[in-house]
Amino acid sequence: MTTYFLYVRKSTDVEDKQMRSIGDQLSVLRTLAKSEDLEIADIFVEKQSAKQPGRPVFNDMLSRIEQGEAQGILCWKLDRLARNPIDGGQISWMLQKGKIQRIQTHERSYCPTDNMLMMAVEFGMANQYILDLGANTRRALMEKARQGIYPGRAPVGYLNDLRSKSIAVDAERAKILKQAFELYATDNYRLEDIALFIFRRGIKTRKIKRDNSVGARPLKRDQISYILSNPFYVGLFRYAGELHEGKHEPIISKQLFDKVQAVLKERSKPQSTTKNPQTFCGLIRCGKCGMAITAEHRTKHQKNGNVHEYVYYRCTRKSKTIKCDEPPVREEELNKQLSDILKNHTLSADWAAKINKMAERDEMNAAQSAAVLIRAAKSEMKNISDKLQRLLDAYLDQDIDQEIYRAEKASLLSRKKSLEDKISEIEQEADFWIEPLREWLKDAQNIAEIAVSGDLYAKKIFAKKIFGLNLLFSSKKITGLSQNQWAELCSARKNLGKIPESLILVPKVGVEPTRGCPHSILSAACMPVSPLRRKRELTK
Ligand SMILES: [Zn+2]
Repeated sequence: MTTYFLYVRKSTDVEDKQMRSIGDQLSVLRTLAKSEDLEIADIFVEKQSAKQPGRPVFNDMLSRIEQGEAQGILCWKLDRLARNPIDGGQISWMLQKGKIQRIQTHERSYCPTDNMLMMAVEFGMANQYILDLGANTRRALMEKARQGIYPGRAPVGYLNDLRSKSIAVDAERAKILKQAFELYATDNYRLEDIALFIFRRGIKTRKIKRDNSVGARPLKRDQISYILSNPFYVGLFRYAGELHEGKHEPIISKQLFDKVQAVLKERSKPQSTTKNPQTFCGLIRCGKCGMAITAEHRTKHQKNGNVHEYVYYRCTRKSKTIKCDEPPVREEELNKQLSDILKNHTLSADWAAKINKMAERDEMNAAQSAAVLIRAAKSEMKNISDKLQRLLDAYLDQDIDQEIYRAEKASLLSRKKSLEDKISEIEQEADFWIEPLREWLKDAQNIAEIAVSGDLYAKKIFAKKIFGLNLLFSSKKITGLSQNQWAELCSARKNLGKIPESLILVPKVGVEPTRGCPHSILSAACMPVSPLRRKRELTK
């Protein structure tokens, strides 16, 4: 009597969306075995696609048939057994040799004496189905890319909107990534620092079943480097070796992206890899000779076997005129002092609200037309679009080869992106200073919290904003003069309780606050000014 192996397969691939569940297949086949009086020796359940040869359960079953444990296979349909020529051929061959006596499906049975053509055709069709599916999918994906929708999993900072089949900004993560770009653009951070920065804010490696990785770790250097050089974040994307214009919303400006690319390029040069910056390098200088400081790792071995790692900062002692003997300082010490200095630059919520009110009044007066500049940029953009069309025509007519087409297209798209940036910059210019002011109000209120936190990077960012390059250390003490609005805030805090608050907020009132009251913390002269505005003021 022939004994059978029962084989069921259900994969997660698109190919099998119509296929019955494993439970359904099992129950139908068991009933069939009962009614036909077939003896089942074992049941094999596979959860892998049959597109590629090498399914473990399938292979195990065939080898046990080779050893004579069973002579027949019971399965739903032939395409459960094979969707590729290798597996299909193996089944046919075993049938011809008589190793397999019979294959029973829910529709019909196959025997060695049958016309083999029928079976070959069925296997062939199962294989063709997969090939067509692949080609159709590729075509559909390419079409999607042409329409400006990235056909794949959206990169971190974005989400695939399954309902509208488009890509949406993941507001929270986008904000973190934007900060990461800004940090890296300063050239003071290593890729590892950026990884840690975003890790602390919740951007971690994913759990990957295939690699048995548990995930939830900081991203690796090359992953960070990939993110920082991904044009997706400025609204473009690479697909099938080509740069496409995406419909998704950019989360950083082209200008920032270009800056980051410059840093990446500079850092990728072999000689600079050894000079990765430590947290406080590039922030504080030696107070005695004015030279930069550098960091050193030191390890202390105690007699009891404990090992302590320290980071020390010391003067680079590169001055040729001053012989510097400034002693090194531990990182913890610098950190503590920096916290104290930062605290002196905190803005109370009460003050923030008052300043905000004044700013709103100014905002209304500040609206200005920038139509001429916008018109010029738009006309250049139109030119580029025309050029892109002509380029595509030339490529389709085979006047130029693919390499030139791709390079030209990438450069035109890049220019177009810069122009788009410029236009939105001009459009926002009317209220350009209100945003920085609001940001500043937020920053200044957050300082108290950051000063006491353990986030060295955040402290560094704020210290740079407040002091620029004015921080020095001498005799193990940090000193420095804060700049612009921060200096005003610091001195205003000192006057608190000495003179009336109304005079602190808007001293020498009489002119509107944005003009002509240089001592006010609301003074526009103190706010960061965009290069565009500066240029326009000069040409006035
Ligand atoms: Zn020095």
